[in-house]
Amino acid sequence: MPELPEVETVRRGLLSLIGKEILAVELNRTNLRFPFPEDMDSITGRKILSIDRRAKYLLIRLENDLTLLSHLGMTGRFGYELEGKHDHVIIDFVDGSRLVYTDPRRFGLMDLIRGSDDHKLLNHLGPEPLDSEWSGAQLYESLRGRNVSIKSALLDQKIVVGIGNIYACEILFRAGVSPKRLAKNVSKKKAEEIYNQTQTVLLTAIEAGGSTLRDGQFKQIDGNLGYFPHEFAAYDREGEKCVSVECANTIKRVVQSGRSTFFCNHCQR
Ligand SMILES: [Zn+2]
Repeated sequence: MPELPEVETVRRGLLSLIGKEILAVELNRTNLRFPFPEDMDSITGRKILSIDRRAKYLLIRLENDLTLLSHLGMTGRFGYELEGKHDHVIIDFVDGSRLVYTDPRRFGLMDLIRGSDDHKLLNHLGPEPLDSEWSGAQLYESLRGRNVSIKSALLDQKIVVGIGNIYACEILFRAGVSPKRLAKNVSKKKAEEIYNQTQTVLLTAIEAGGSTLRDGQFKQIDGNLGYFPHEFAAYDREGEKCVSVECANTIKRVVQSGRSTFFCNHCQR
């Protein structure tokens, strides 16, 4: 499932659309995860003003205070050319170019927002990890008293948004914190370290164009892969030697809340 670096990579890939006027929108079915808005046609005749991201949502800003909200779900992606039978939304622009939304498993979504970002999917989201207003101190405060694992806490979109299974594993490995440690038992110093590693991991992953896993589902808009898996230290490395030079252990896998967690039980405490 795309996480913050993948969605940010897509956002950056879409920036070339700014200034283009929408000529027509074609829906090849009635729904994705939810039905398309009935007034989807109201995007036509409007120019794209900017493209923002909130958590794992893309916000395509159009003229006259209309925003096209999109989430990629598990397998959604945008491209500039038709791909085949899973092309569900085709947006044609006045200049002859087009934007195609393809989603084999259809867990993605699209909706329209009028005016400010008052939407049920956005209203309860926590802080953005790369926002200058978020800090290690704030993370520490959100972890206090929480009787859940630090791994679950990092996946909780009310504590911090955009981090999923891959990046939670990588962040905790680099911070030297066991994914099984209870959130309430993470020291202030370790919370700072988790915060710092969150910045490093997410920014490095965005630079790499996100992560294309072995399933090949995620791709950049131009069709390129996301190269961050070359830098995985823990994720998907079960049984491989720990990358820490002083450590002779191998990476272990456990299942937490139905998701695989990869970690080194020597380096992460
Ligand atoms: Zn190790």
